[in-house]
Amino acid sequence: MDLTLLLDKIILDVEDKGARGTVADYIPALARVDPSHFGMAIAELDGTVHGVGDWQHPFSIQSMSKVFTLALVLAQADGADVWRRVGREPSGDPFNSLVQLEHEDGIPRNPFINAGALVVTDELARYGDAADELLTFLRTESGDPGLTVDAEVAASEAEHADRNRALAYFMAAYGNIRHPVPEVLDQYVRQCSIAMSCGDLARSALFLARHGIRNDGSRFIGQSEAKRINAVMLTCGTYDAAGQFAYRVGLPAKSGVGGGILAIVPGRCAVCVWSPGLDKRGNSVAGATALARFTTMTGWSIF
Ligand code: GLU
Repeated sequence: MDLTLLLDKIILDVEDKGARGTVADYIPALARVDPSHFGMAIAELDGTVHGVGDWQHPFSIQSMSKVFTLALVLAQADGADVWRRVGREPSGDPFNSLVQLEHEDGIPRNPFINAGALVVTDELARYGDAADELLTFLRTESGDPGLTVDAEVAASEAEHADRNRALAYFMAAYGNIRHPVPEVLDQYVRQCSIAMSCGDLARSALFLARHGIRNDGSRFIGQSEAKRINAVMLTCGTYDAAGQFAYRVGLPAKSGVGGGILAIVPGRCAVCVWSPGLDKRGNSVAGATALARFTTMTGWSIF
């Protein structure tokens, strides 16, 4: 299949559709991003990357960071212990909701809602600064040593983090956040504020398409761990629209409020698409359309 030709067709289809959604504005620095951006990249198992549109333009990875921090925790010898502190079920609530936590004794439903991701960051903080660990991994896998935290986004996010602060303190009251909350929040905010392009993200996520193998051929996580991360992406990766997303696209995916969506075709490739306009649930409108076109045109869904 000619993937460059495929991407050219997808961008035309997306442009034809026109609808773009609205940029996230609860983090002011994200509200300033031009909604007309669109980029898409496909990384093949051998590391070859094909891209179209703004595929080399860095943007805020936001919640896509949660896939990588979870993998970094699961890569540790006792990594699976994290599942005692966070569940694996879709929440059915918005990503930053507080309501379920009280009913469920401070154990978040899954690692991809904010509460769950804060627990994962807290767990990763046992081994070092979570954002630094993540940056080291992403720089190596993407091959881009210049990757860094966008300081403006991080400052803006830190200033508007009261909900996340509330989630973290609430879980601390249940003993499910173990480091001081300000430290965990700082690491979480910086991990979300890393800026990357679609090309870098697709390359960095290839270990999930290769059943746990990194770009240098070494094993990062076990085959079962890769399966499990992909499974949680499918069921919980696109906010409380994961059912609709699985129906439309049929791939494990994780979206972020920066407008990125990372999708995995196990055994074949990793795909990243970026367009900052979001729908009501927080998923990129043009990104979801592009991925739906991608699986329809290639037949590469997991179903
Ligand atoms: N940093 C964002 C937050 O904590 C991430 C949200 C997202 O991308 O889902 O609200």
